[in-house]
Amino acid sequence: MISLEEAQARLLSNIVALPIETCPLLDANGRWAAANVSAVRTQPARNLSAMDGYAIAHVSFPGPWQVCGESAAGSPWNGACDSKKAVRIFTGAIIPDEYDCVIIQEDIRKTEDIISLSGAAAPKCGQHIRRAGSDFNAGTILIKSGDRMTAARIALAAMGGHGQVSVRRRVRVALLSTGNELVKPGEPVADHQIPSSNAPMLEAMLADLPADVVDLGIIADDVDAIAHAIRSADVDIIVTIGGASVGDHDLVKPALDACGATLDFWKVAMRPGKPVMAGKVGKTLVLGIPGNPVSAFVTSLLFLRPAICTFGGATNPLPARVTAILDGTLPSTGPRTDHIRGYVQNGHVKAIGMDDSAILVGLAQSNALIVRPGNSAPVKSGDTVEIIVHA
Ligand code: AMP
Ligand code: MG
Repeated sequence: MISLEEAQARLLSNIVALPIETCPLLDANGRWAAANVSAVRTQPARNLSAMDGYAIAHVSFPGPWQVCGESAAGSPWNGACDSKKAVRIFTGAIIPDEYDCVIIQEDIRKTEDIISLSGAAAPKCGQHIRRAGSDFNAGTILIKSGDRMTAARIALAAMGGHGQVSVRRRVRVALLSTGNELVKPGEPVADHQIPSSNAPMLEAMLADLPADVVDLGIIADDVDAIAHAIRSADVDIIVTIGGASVGDHDLVKPALDACGATLDFWKVAMRPGKPVMAGKVGKTLVLGIPGNPVSAFVTSLLFLRPAICTFGGATNPLPARVTAILDGTLPSTGPRTDHIRGYVQNGHVKAIGMDDSAILVGLAQSNALIVRPGNSAPVKSGDTVEIIVHA
């Protein structure tokens, strides 16, 4: 049995990021930039007004001013102007170079085309002006290779002059649920059966990642049937669910052997999820996750999601561990890293208390896993613990 950290490191070091493609900005959402994105323009390109009002040259002339023209967003004033005059200006409009500040319209008294200050405060040089380049200059690196394309970074790339970016192609994932007892969710369930809840759970867990998931459905506990399904999947990652232990009906390992798979690890010092296995069939990564719902959740969070992120070119593929203050007590742990269902709020976390790996109600009530490394001493209220926030 290997440690959780070693298993994660081994899995991820076996993954080569997928080929690079160029795609429209929106298609890049949630993927990782495969190259630095530099600005091809300066933003703003010129000094712009941040308010509706009047542009003046307050340093050289105290007013009153004659209004000589108007500049609106998209319609700059191209006529003559000088420091003794003012230009009517609107938010986002170019400020003619002669002017150094904007007076908001509420602070202006206007008689015909002559304006003067009505507000008490003296204008300040540069007020209400968005300076050219105050966001970024042409040539600035806006997004670094490996950064995730978030909504804000998509906006930044667009503002920087780009309609498309380089990312890794989407990851193809196949889910394969094994078990004679499984039925499709929503279908009639006899007492000797259970709904295959892991398949929709996993698909939901991957929904925010750039992965195209094919659900290969429910495969009977039969070595040939499982091996056939594994061979037929043309994907980057095959995820088998269930059948990963050593019981007579746990046939994923024999099926992988039948496919000529090389197994990298099987059994990890973690709880829940110990029987997780990883290997390769040809070039395809195979991740065998245990069938117990909470084990499937935890191993998907700690192995499957990071694997997809690594295929996608992420620089930090593992889920973030943060600290929280514990409310309540937790006993010492055994040799395996424990993942306890918890609820975190305002920096405090408490254990939900339903820790059987088959209990979905406890998992569904939790929004975090409390991570307790192997051989940890007991902890009490007020102690700091590490958590992974998952909802
Ligand atoms: P296994 O890993 O096949 O030994 O399964 C462990 C437990 O998880 C058993 O109680 C199975 O019935 C259950 N299980 C296996 N696959 C699924 C699934 N796809 N959805 C929900 N429960 C499952
Ligand atoms: Mg089974």
